[in-house]
Amino acid sequence: MCGIVGYVGPKEAWPILISGLKRLEYRGYDSAGVAIMGDKGLQVSKCKGRVADLEAHVGKKGLKGTVGIGHTRWATHGEPNDVNAHPHTSANGELALIHNGIIENYATLKEELIKRGYVFRSETDTEVLVHLIDDIQRTEGTDLAESVRLALLNVVGAYAIVVVDAKSPDMLVAARKSSPLVIGIGNDGDHFLASDATPIVEHTRNVVYMEDGEIAIIEKEKGLRVRNIKNQELRPSVQALEIQLETLEKGGYDHFMLKEINEQPRSIRDSMRGRLNIAGSEVVLGGIKDYEQKFVNAKRILVVGCGTSWHAGMVGEYLFEEFARIPVEVEYASEFRYRDPVINEDDIVIAISQSGETADTLAAIELAKSRGATIIGICNVVGSSIARITHAGSYTHAGPEIGVASTKAFTAQVTLLTLMALMIGHRKGTIDGARFQQLLLELDAIPAKVERVLKTEAQIKYIAEIYKDARNALYLGRGYCFPVALEGALKLKEISYIHAEGYPAAEMKHGPIALIDEEMPVFVIATQGASYEKVVSNIQEVKARKGKVIAIVTEGDTVVKAIADHTIEIPASPDALVPLLAVVPLQLISYHIAVMRGCNVDQPRNLAKSVTVE
Ligand code: GLU
Repeated sequence: MCGIVGYVGPKEAWPILISGLKRLEYRGYDSAGVAIMGDKGLQVSKCKGRVADLEAHVGKKGLKGTVGIGHTRWATHGEPNDVNAHPHTSANGELALIHNGIIENYATLKEELIKRGYVFRSETDTEVLVHLIDDIQRTEGTDLAESVRLALLNVVGAYAIVVVDAKSPDMLVAARKSSPLVIGIGNDGDHFLASDATPIVEHTRNVVYMEDGEIAIIEKEKGLRVRNIKNQELRPSVQALEIQLETLEKGGYDHFMLKEINEQPRSIRDSMRGRLNIAGSEVVLGGIKDYEQKFVNAKRILVVGCGTSWHAGMVGEYLFEEFARIPVEVEYASEFRYRDPVINEDDIVIAISQSGETADTLAAIELAKSRGATIIGICNVVGSSIARITHAGSYTHAGPEIGVASTKAFTAQVTLLTLMALMIGHRKGTIDGARFQQLLLELDAIPAKVERVLKTEAQIKYIAEIYKDARNALYLGRGYCFPVALEGALKLKEISYIHAEGYPAAEMKHGPIALIDEEMPVFVIATQGASYEKVVSNIQEVKARKGKVIAIVTEGDTVVKAIADHTIEIPASPDALVPLLAVVPLQLISYHIAVMRGCNVDQPRNLAKSVTVE
């Protein structure tokens, strides 16, 4: 993770770097730092804490200079403290470097550098890079760009780095392998660098997405040059950014998470826009059109993802099995890649990632690709690594998600999986025409229904007040709503730090039932559908042991209302579409409990958003 920014141009770098870092804080927020080249030479300032702490540390005026780099960290090696914060510098203070990723062979490199007389100040893996570049500059007499290239030939691991050198004061050198890096080409002869496009969009819409193995040299006079690791000059391809600036602001909400929960009627609609054709009775997913036949012929679908995306993938499993009659396996990307999985050439692998940069998912894709499978991506961030390395895919179009706990990305992913499963089922003839048309209409009605669910917020706040001090919570669901139970539990854990478990409701009696007492809130998704009666029995079992039941029910339900402690109503919908509605109250419950407990909702402790480390 970690957020990286850089600036080269005619303007003062400090305000640009600080506002850029604030946009990237979702990627890591345990320490922050900058290095700016000015009249006084290279000045570095860094400290534990957030970007606001760095600002306070440096003072209102900031540092002067027009070339600089900035970093907001999510520690992998070495605790978050002032010394381990980036930038890391060479012994004479002439070189400063920021890094996102992990240098896997850092211990060997460190040992060699220590033998050569280098003294290490931090516990990070990153520090080896700055000494290694310094060592090459001294021994080979090469310039900064070439020294960076030679250094990287010795490095195993993942990185996006940016280096500044007092000996070449008008220049930044950046490189990437597996961690993202975007270059913005400004209108005033300036250049911006960032881990994603969000810090760049307010300055320019022209960007270059760096590819793995590329090195960018950005100079005030000469502008941008790109080389590969073999030192061949490349022609950078400039693309136009499409994100709107307002989507990166809180828009009057107290937190990004609340804004993003409330955006779901629109984000779900945006995920369906141009794809759901009710009049023509079809689903059109342009991004995977050329692979439709492969899907139709597929003997099996493998879904890979992590965290919330994995939960969306599980909903996908139920959808593809019901509508397209294709067997599906849902895998944690991190487990999948380290097994020796059986992958066949006629397998379809669906890779799901909000950021499109999730390191484990990327590695799983590479493995599946090398074994001949067809890879379909479902990502939110346009131009992201996963979007680029997959054979085909569809963007979720949920808009930038800034809150670390994913909300609208989940419902957008589930919407896309629903569209895909319906499209393939329709093509295969495994779903009959009338039912297909009915489901299209029902899907089209989902945004308005989510709007209705959002109106239950006052009631949810009331429930949150009662259970905010719970130490444990259980989430139960069956069928399509089992993954929703998992997602509900994850949300509560992530932002309120209450221990929570999601279970298939029927599994409760095989273990978790032992935990139930009067203190234990049990959230149950008990909407009317295929397993309604069974879930009602599960609620009775909880009540018989004096557990507290908060049930999500279908509007007008009377049976569950009579036995549960609290009920939250959601509009009736076919089972397959209930996840899109049932998850919303669970997101709101977690949000309000976290706020009441005084937790930092948008930046929960120890977490970060775009998980670019394995
Ligand atoms: N490995 C580096 C550190 O711990 C960078 C971490 C990251 O990119 O998340 O400082």
